[in-house]
Amino acid sequence: MASIRFENIDKFFPGVQALKNINLEIKSGEFFTLLGPSGCGKTTLLRTVAGFYKQDRGHIYFEDVLVDDIPAHKRDTGMVFQNYAVWPHMTVYENVAFGLKNRKLKPSEIKRKVDTVLKMARLTGFEHRTPDQLSGGQQQRVGLARAMVIEPKVLLMDEPLSNLDAKLRIEMREEIRDIQRQLGITTIYVTHDQEEALVISDRIAVMNAGEIYQVGEPWEIYKNPSNIFVASFVGTMNFLSGKIISRNGDSVTIDFGIGKLNIKVSRSLPTSGEVRIAVRPEDLILEPRASEIRSKKEFSVIKGRVIKSSFTGTLIQYFVECDSGKSLIIERHKPEKDALVQDGTSVEVLIPKKAVFLFDPETGKRV
Ligand code: ADP
Ligand code: MG
Repeated sequence: MASIRFENIDKFFPGVQALKNINLEIKSGEFFTLLGPSGCGKTTLLRTVAGFYKQDRGHIYFEDVLVDDIPAHKRDTGMVFQNYAVWPHMTVYENVAFGLKNRKLKPSEIKRKVDTVLKMARLTGFEHRTPDQLSGGQQQRVGLARAMVIEPKVLLMDEPLSNLDAKLRIEMREEIRDIQRQLGITTIYVTHDQEEALVISDRIAVMNAGEIYQVGEPWEIYKNPSNIFVASFVGTMNFLSGKIISRNGDSVTIDFGIGKLNIKVSRSLPTSGEVRIAVRPEDLILEPRASEIRSKKEFSVIKGRVIKSSFTGTLIQYFVECDSGKSLIIERHKPEKDALVQDGTSVEVLIPKKAVFLFDPETGKRV
């Protein structure tokens, strides 16, 4: 187990800066996720931790030991790859034992350790199979067992579930989380899947174009995004453009074309007067519940028409076109059949003031 500290990390490739001034501290034993779109620098950062790449600027520490000049094979990290990378000509047992044989452990010790991780990875009984006799999920478990058996200080996983089908991905992410908890190995996990990141992580760093945009616990990232990028990348979000038309102390009135909002703001306001308004689909309220609570002052009411809905079992999503042509997504959980709203129905949508996020459109920052 080790904490990991990044100080001012830059990494350049020809024509692109893959990492821009990364500063980050990962705690010992933490399950930490790098989340971001393809090409944002996640793999580069992970490979820099492993020592496969050397940063062009800045320093990396494990505990308080500078590892910049320590070669990859001496950094004591275990890596799990997207494409499994298990050896096809070796059995499951041989694949997992390989790293221990290399370290010249006694055969009895090797057997004990391999048996323990195979049990943890639910591979007991599969010892003598070769990878071609295993499913994708089982192969990935071999990859995981092989990385864990050497008891690395740091476990690194680069999109380990992205080649698996949806159902297996959900099962495996729970398994990975459970195993990591049991072992308590400091883990850096890479994914572009925001839901996976929310489920699996102690903390998440959201990355874009080589930079870290926000670091926080899943709840914090989802409920309290600090900029437009995080708000739009994590979960679904409705965005509207608005203008501040008056201020009174810490409360402002915003005109967003199809309605007005009067809300308190605790942070600094943009000078331009333009704002981006964001609200989650599950926070918006649609008729008929709307009429029951309309009298309350905590809402802004707008008119629209349901143009489409999609039902996923646990929730129903309505696509509402507002009078100006702007469309909103509204979610209702545990829908009751008699409360379903048909396509084409004219509706009122309530925007709860408390659920609204405001961003400065120029800097992208929360205001
Ligand atoms: P991610 O894992 O988030 O998809 P990467 O870390 O692989 O992103 O890539 C970050 C950026 O660096 C991309 O623009 C990518 O094209 C570039 N890049 C990554 N690896 C190399 C490399 N070995 N040589 C040149 N460019 C690279
Ligand atoms: Mg990658």
